[in-house]
Amino acid sequence: MVVALALTGSCGGGGGHGSQPPPSAPLSISLHGWYITQAVQTLDRSVPLVARRDGVLRVFLRASAANHAAPTVRVTITGGAGSPWQRTIAAPAASVPTGFDENSLNASWNLPIPGNVLAPNGHIQIEVDPDRAVAEIDPAAHNVQSTLEVRRVPILRITLVPVVQSGLTGEVETGGRTRNAWLARFRAMYPVSQIDVHVGAPLHTTANLNDHPHQDHDWVQLLGELRTLRLANGDVGRYYYGVVKRSNGNGTQGDTPVAAQEAAGWDDLAGYQDTFAHEMGHALGRNHAPCGVAVFGNNTGWPTDPAHAGAALGAAGLDVATLTPKASPAFKDIMGYCPPYWVSDTTYKGIMDWNEAAGVSLDY
Ligand SMILES: [Zn+2]
Repeated sequence: MVVALALTGSCGGGGGHGSQPPPSAPLSISLHGWYITQAVQTLDRSVPLVARRDGVLRVFLRASAANHAAPTVRVTITGGAGSPWQRTIAAPAASVPTGFDENSLNASWNLPIPGNVLAPNGHIQIEVDPDRAVAEIDPAAHNVQSTLEVRRVPILRITLVPVVQSGLTGEVETGGRTRNAWLARFRAMYPVSQIDVHVGAPLHTTANLNDHPHQDHDWVQLLGELRTLRLANGDVGRYYYGVVKRSNGNGTQGDTPVAAQEAAGWDDLAGYQDTFAHEMGHALGRNHAPCGVAVFGNNTGWPTDPAHAGAALGAAGLDVATLTPKASPAFKDIMGYCPPYWVSDTTYKGIMDWNEAAGVSLDY
C-alpha cells in the first residue's frame, strides 16, 4: 500500500511535510464490470449484440479509496474486421472512481467499437493496466476474457408512403425531413443494422385521419389500403409506413397492429421520428409499455420488477452516435406515451427475438 500513497502523493488535502497522512482504507482497484452497448445494456450483458452495428465498450473500474491512479485498459477483439482488433483506452479521469455510475461517461473507460468488428463467435480480451503501472489493481483484472454474443439481423426493408387524406399530403422529404431523418431515432434505439428505405408514390385515401369521433375506423381503412398496395406491388418482405399529415394534433396520431407489415403515423415535425419508431415497434411485434397508455393489451409481457416500473428502461441507455447517456427512469420506453423516450432492454431484446422468428426478408 506504500506504492498507493506514492501515487496519491500529489493529492491535495493530505498531510503536509512531516505530518502523518490521514488513516484510510487500503487502496485496491477492481473491475466492477464491463459491457458493449449498442443502445441499452445491463451489467450482466444480457442484451445480445448486433453484428455490423456500432457500439461502445464501457469498462467500469472501482477503487476502495480515494486515489490518483489512472490505469489504461487494453482491448482486443477477435472474430470481426481487422481481427485481432486492438485498442488501448486512456483513463477518462485523474482517478479511479470509488462508485459505480453508468450515467457518467467519465466514470468508465469507453471505447467506440465499429460495427464491422462485431461478428458472431467473437471474443474479447480486456487487460486493465497492461503495463502494470498501478500496483493496487486486482490481478484478476489484468486478463479478462469472454466470448461475445453477437447475432446477425436481417436487412429491414421499409417503404415510406405519403398519404393524401382530406386534402392533406403527408410530408416525407420536405419541410426539413429527410429519408435518413425518418430513420434516425429508429436506428439509434433498435437492434437493426442495414435498413433499405424507399419512398413510395402517394396513396390517395377517402379515410378521414383528422380528429373525429370515428377516426379509428378510418385509420384501420388506411392500414387495409396500405396492405392492398403492398401486395399489389409484390413487396412481400417490406414494411409500408403511411406518412399522414393531419389538421391538428388532437386524436389518434398513428395506428399499427402488433406484428403487422403496415404502419402509419403523423408527420408532425416535432415528433415524427419518435412516432415512426413507436409505430414500427408495434409492427415489429411490440405491445405498449405501461406509461400513459390506456390500452396495454391483455398480456404485454412487460416485466414487473422495479427497474421497469412505469415503462422505465430497466437498464442503462446510451445513444452510441452522440455518446449521450439515457438514464432510467428519467427516460421511458419508446413503446409508452411518456417522453423523453429511449429504448428499454425489454423492447430491444423483444424486437431482436421477433426479427429472428419472423423470417421476413432474411437475407443478410
Ligand atoms: Zn402505440
